[in-house]
Order: sequence, then structure tokens, then C-alpha cells
Amino acid sequence: MKLHEYQAKSLLGRFGVPMLPGVAATDADGAVAAAKEVGGDLWVVKAQIHAGGRGKGRFVEDVDATEIAKAAKGEDAAGKGGVRLARTLDDVRAAAAAMLGKTLVTKQTGIEGREVRTIYVAAACDIAKEYYLSVLLDRSNNKVLFMASSEGGVDIEEVAEHNPEAIKKVWVDSAVGLRDFQGRELAYGLGLTDAKQVRKATAFFQALYQAYMDLDCSMLEINPLVLTEQGDLIALDCKMDVDGNALYRHDDIVAMRDVHEEEATEIEASEYGLSFIKLDGTIGCMVNGAGLAMSTMDIIQYKGAKPANFLDVGGGAKQKQVEAAFRIITKDPSVQGILVNIFGGIMKCDVIANGVVAAVKEVGLKVPLVVRLSGTNADLGKKIIDESGLDVIAATNLDDAADKIVAAVKGA
Ligand code: GDP
Ligand code: MG
Repeated sequence: MKLHEYQAKSLLGRFGVPMLPGVAATDADGAVAAAKEVGGDLWVVKAQIHAGGRGKGRFVEDVDATEIAKAAKGEDAAGKGGVRLARTLDDVRAAAAAMLGKTLVTKQTGIEGREVRTIYVAAACDIAKEYYLSVLLDRSNNKVLFMASSEGGVDIEEVAEHNPEAIKKVWVDSAVGLRDFQGRELAYGLGLTDAKQVRKATAFFQALYQAYMDLDCSMLEINPLVLTEQGDLIALDCKMDVDGNALYRHDDIVAMRDVHEEEATEIEASEYGLSFIKLDGTIGCMVNGAGLAMSTMDIIQYKGAKPANFLDVGGGAKQKQVEAAFRIITKDPSVQGILVNIFGGIMKCDVIANGVVAAVKEVGLKVPLVVRLSGTNADLGKKIIDESGLDVIAATNLDDAADKIVAAVKGA
């Protein structure tokens, strides 16, 4: 689950990660009140969306399509972005008004952008140097990976591609935690040499590691981590991703969920208890069981097409859920064909058949549909589909089903 910067920072504060004070707001008056609460005479107003690159992003309301296309590629575009410095309360109000309710396009949002519903007003600082720092799970090494780079503030993917030696990597064994020598290694990797700064940096890394572990993060990125003119190290930006499987032990984080940032279809799916993940292919899949769903996606890929989604209707789905699943798949404009692949165990094939027939009667069927039913009540399921008069392509096994749907989509 992704969090907004202001939410992530409120969590990091508990671990003593050094940050500047900030307050979130949802309207211009609130932004001014937030600035007063923060105090000082220099603020930064930041759009809160689940995407980075806000500083270089642009608002669709402000500039023309050419500039928006540039912003979506992360190139320099004319106009102002989603991170703005403000020197007076009037500046804060103006910056908030210019962002709230507007659509921000960044390299990470895609061309359609994201509506800004919340802004964060934080104390600003004078930056001497910007660094990159992230903590993530390295699955191939079964370790927590710290990545640090003196090339901060900018796109780390670009650094990774063009200047990989500028990224210092340190792997942490979670059984022993981050050792001080590893912290120093990272600090030297950033180019810090002053003993006091190296100590500050190692304390920073320790606090971040503790936060990463205790909050069950899957990714924690501080970009930029800055060295101020006064010689302090501060987390200026934060992106946090919390492992969805660990949310059951973090009620406070669950309460931070922002459904406006999620795919509408994924929200609808979760309301019906379906495991649904939108992908970028053309073949909609309705499958029972996560393992079978993954094999189905694999074989579609193997046969030369791409799945439009992952969907596990679960073992004990009722007809209503099957109908919802089918509706969600057909709603996706990129779906050019649908493959229903059911192995009936606890799930009965006739329930699936009834759900599919009911859903097709309700929403119609504009693309080819291949159905493979096997296992409990498969014959009854096939009979229901045959007698429904629907234009369904029957398949005998998974291989056959994949061949037929890929052929149908390619022929269409
Ligand atoms: P992102 O563009 O979504 O990654 O948002 P960031 O929070 O990283 O902000 C982008 C850039 O704005 C940073 O790399 C800084 O250069 C600048 N910035 C952010 N906060 C401050 C601040 O307090 N003072 C100054 N001078 N610049 C800031
Ligand atoms: Mg950033």
C-alpha cells in the first residue's frame, strides 16, 4: 500500500528521522493556517499524490498539451510544478490554490495525471547538497538493500542507467540489522568525510532501517536527503510502500489508505472480495485460485499475447461475485478477449457458468469469450453455457483455451 509523503513523514517522525515540520491541508485557508502552525518565514508547498517527480510535473489546467506531454516524460516543461517555495503567507495561499483540485502530470503519473486533493505545507530549508537514499527488499539476496547516491534529487533510474557506479549498495542481514560500519560505508558512498556528518548520517540510516522494519515497508525512499547549509542531514521527501500482507498489524496505516489514488476497478473488486490487479495486456482473465491465475497469465504470454489483469475469484465465490468479476473485466477498454479458466474443486463450475451468463445478459459481450471448465460440476456448467445461447468458444484444457483466446484476439 502506498502512502502520501505527509503520511509517511508522520510515521517516520516516530523513529527520530530528522525532518522539517509540516502540516497537510485540503483548502487554501487550511494551507495558510498550516503555514502559521509550521512557523518561520520560508515554506514549501507540495502536492500530495501517489507519484514522484512532482517538482518537474505540470498542471493540465496551466499549460498546453505539448508541455504536458513533456512533463509526462519527465522533461523540462514550461510552467510551474507541484513543489513550490513560498516566502509569504500570500504565496502559500496562491500556491495551494494553484494546486488543489487541479490535475498534476509527472513522469510517474502517465499522461492522464492525478487530481491533487491534499497539499503539504512544510518548513523549507537552504540546501547545500541533495542525495538519494532508499531501502528496499532485495528478493534475490533475501536481504534488505540500502541504495545511496550523491546524485540526489534527480531520477535515480537515470543514474542507474548512465552512471551506475554513483550508486552505493549495502545489503543488510535482517538477523543482525544494519551495522555501524555499514552505515559509515553508505556515508562515505555519499561522499561525506567530516566525522560529525558521518555520525549524523549513520544515525539517520539506523533510524530509517528501524522504521523500514517496524512499519513492514517494502520500499522506503528519501529523495532528496539533503545536507543543509548548517550541516544537518534532513529527509526532504519521502516515498513509502507498506507490504499489503502486513497491514493486519498496522491499523493506523490502514486508516491512511487513499482510495482516490487507486484503480477504480481494483476498489470495486476488493468490495466483492476478489483479488484483482490491473495489467496492461489485452486478454481479460477470470480464474479461481492464485496459482491457476498465474499459470493462466503465463500461458497467455507463452502463446504470444498479454493478460489484461490478474483475477482470482477465490474458492468459495458466489454468483454475485462472479458477475462482478465479469463486469470489472468487460469495463476495461483494453480488453479484446476474455478467458474464463476454472478448475472446480470447492468452487462449482455451474456457479461460474450461471455468473458468466447473468453478467453477459446484463453488460453484453463485445469481445470473444473462451471458457474452459473442469472439475466439480463441469458438465452442468457446460450445459448452462450451451443452453444460454451465448456466443462462447468452448475449450477442453488450458493449452487449448490459451490457443483459442489468443487466436480470437489476434484475428479480431
Ligand atoms: P518530487 O519532485 O515529487 O520528488 O518532490 P520533492 O519533495 O523531492 O521535491 C523536488 C525538489 O524540490 C527537491 O529535489 C528540491 O530541490 C526542491 N525542494 C523541496 N523542498 C525544498 C526546500 O525546503 N527548500 C528548497 N530550497 N528546495 C526544496
Ligand atoms: Mg523527491
